[in-house]
Amino acid sequence: MPMPASLPRPALLDPREAQARIEEIRADIGDCKRCRLCEQRNHIVFGVGNPRAELMFVGEAPGRDEDLKGEPFVGRAGQLLTKIIEAMKFKREDVYIANVVKCRPPENRNPAPDEIATCEPYLLRQIETLQPKAIVGLGNFAVQTLLQTESKITGLRGRFHPWPSAIVKAKFETCLPEGSIQMMPTYHPAFLLRNPAMKRPVWEDMQKVMELLKKS
Ligand code: URA
Repeated sequence: MPMPASLPRPALLDPREAQARIEEIRADIGDCKRCRLCEQRNHIVFGVGNPRAELMFVGEAPGRDEDLKGEPFVGRAGQLLTKIIEAMKFKREDVYIANVVKCRPPENRNPAPDEIATCEPYLLRQIETLQPKAIVGLGNFAVQTLLQTESKITGLRGRFHPWPSAIVKAKFETCLPEGSIQMMPTYHPAFLLRNPAMKRPVWEDMQKVMELLKKS
């Protein structure tokens, strides 16, 4: 299948400026009390990695291990994500990893719409700073938020979705040009732990991402 041609992105920030912007976003979040998730959290799980990464992974929300450590994807699902990243010939520190919601929902329940609405501007600013070539959306929740759709991951994965779409651009009011990033939905690593047979389609999705990054 031919690879999608990414549209031109705005001038990339130099690495020091990108790092400073990322620090600014973290400082703006501060000791956030903007929603009820602050009540039971131990740490805000902001994001980790290279602020100029070409490849970004976006998950749902921190779980118990992430809340204790303050870093995304460090529990069992995170270890599997790290293996996937390494199989793609990257290190964790080469890519950027973040979640839609930055505080752990109690008992790992789904984040509520108002919690998402409060937190998603920070994810958007992280994406605008990085301007990655590709975003891998991990699981239903992250993909549905990023694409502003109610469609399910099974029907969305396996192909690139130019991001932001016109709808997403209007909703998030982003300066990023329409379709300037390629977004690949795939299954969440926690789902893979329960359904190992789904590792193969995820690996096929990741090969498409690797091909895109090699090409552009
Ligand atoms: N699941 C997620 O979606 N994010 C994490 O950081 C950990 C588990």
